[in-house]
Amino acid sequence: MKEGIHPDYKECNVTCACGNTFTTLSTTDTMRVEVCSECHPFFTGQQKFANRGGRVEKFKNKYNL
Ligand SMILES: [Zn+2]
Repeated sequence: MKEGIHPDYKECNVTCACGNTFTTLSTTDTMRVEVCSECHPFFTGQQKFANRGGRVEKFKNKYNL
């Protein structure tokens, strides 16, 4: 088995631009990211999507669609 091919993974402290911090496995001790699971549009957008769907339901009910 050759040496130097597999990186040495260790616990990495990740700091997000939103202020959230979490740990993951990486080859570095610390890491800074722009988005995380707490502030990524995909996750924060879920609630907005649900609200928008609620208005559509009201619209359908109003016109008996
Ligand atoms: Zn974040």
